[in-house]
Amino acid sequence: MRKISQIINGKRKIIKKPELLAPAGNLEKLKVAIMYGADAVFVGGKEFSLRSQASNFSLEDIQEGVEFAKKYGAHIHVTCNIILHQDNLEGLKDYLKKLDEIGVTAIIVADPYIMKIAKDMKLGLEVHVSTQLSTLNSQAISFYQNMGMDRVVLGREVTYDDLKCIMDKVDVDIEYFIHGAMCIHYSGRCMLSNYLSRRDANRGGCSQSCRWYYDLYQDGELVNQENDMPFSMSSKDMSLVAHIGELIELGVDSFKIEGRMKSVHYIATVVSTYRKLIDTYCEDPDHFQQSDYFEKELLKAANRAFCHGFYYEHPTVNEQLFNMRDEHPTQEFVMRIVDYDKETKLAKIEQRNYFKIGDQIEVFSPHHDNLCFTVKKLYNEDMEEIDVANHPMEILYVEIPYQVLSNDMGRKVRNV
Ligand code: SF4
Repeated sequence: MRKISQIINGKRKIIKKPELLAPAGNLEKLKVAIMYGADAVFVGGKEFSLRSQASNFSLEDIQEGVEFAKKYGAHIHVTCNIILHQDNLEGLKDYLKKLDEIGVTAIIVADPYIMKIAKDMKLGLEVHVSTQLSTLNSQAISFYQNMGMDRVVLGREVTYDDLKCIMDKVDVDIEYFIHGAMCIHYSGRCMLSNYLSRRDANRGGCSQSCRWYYDLYQDGELVNQENDMPFSMSSKDMSLVAHIGELIELGVDSFKIEGRMKSVHYIATVVSTYRKLIDTYCEDPDHFQQSDYFEKELLKAANRAFCHGFYYEHPTVNEQLFNMRDEHPTQEFVMRIVDYDKETKLAKIEQRNYFKIGDQIEVFSPHHDNLCFTVKKLYNEDMEEIDVANHPMEILYVEIPYQVLSNDMGRKVRNV
């Protein structure tokens, strides 16, 4: 039985805080995720990982990531969730040994052989069962537990009622998706991309074929022509921002954010929002009041409208975007703060997207509340005044009337 909360000085507090687990497709994203509040980050190695496009971490990168994470008391999980073909076996044991030596906390696996040898080798690595195996019930979880697995990452298709039942019945760490893109198919079971573009969705190559526009025929007649409306099968993105308290009270061990290919701005926004939400709830769960602040924050980096995924039941027509892509982040990432001079009030920045004099910028940070300013003075690296910032990654200086911190981010406020 998991003990979730305890009365401390007359007030109930959550003592079993879930891990906030973030994705990272490269070292920059890994560091941002940790600086913005992730307890752990999952990455794909160059070897034995499923998602080839995101698998850009060499062993040296992983080592640097682990060392960085340690400074923050955070952990690194590495996906080894390849479905092994006969010729993939070579080098596997050496690779696992190296991950262990580097100080990786956990490997995420799908192939039973990797599950077995990772345990037989008696390494310090935890072994987590990948979501790729679509684990949806307590009996399957007990099976993996009996194999000595340390954690099971559930399929996205587990409803709240099923999760409650699972949490009552099993005694192994449970990881649950709280935020990210959804598939129109059961995740890990889709062949659309394989058939339509010969890119293997289950080896990291998904071409997002479900989100393309299609002509729709009924009895041989084109039916989506009338109002020139394209047809697509795209799902809305999942966000369980409104249910974090319920999930904490169930004792879920790890909250997973999806999206190793997502931008630095997305990761910073999503991680810092859930960090603040989890911490606020755990501090005083009985007086926590859900506000729309957290959802509004998430929408600043969202690509699509949100839905609850499978949380209540199987998604309905309302959770799909049949007629439009509906991509609409409410704000645009324009700068990362490198440094700030309190005397001159000039911030040294790395430009990320176009902005100009007169634009309103919101600065957000893991260390302070959001702050807004209007761009009045902008300089290039030679301290010549300029009107527009239009060269990505260029170092510029911008006047900001209040103190900001290194690694804060600025986004252009859009009127929506
Ligand atoms: S095509 Fe769509 S449903 Fe299929 S794997 Fe890709 S994103 Fe998921």
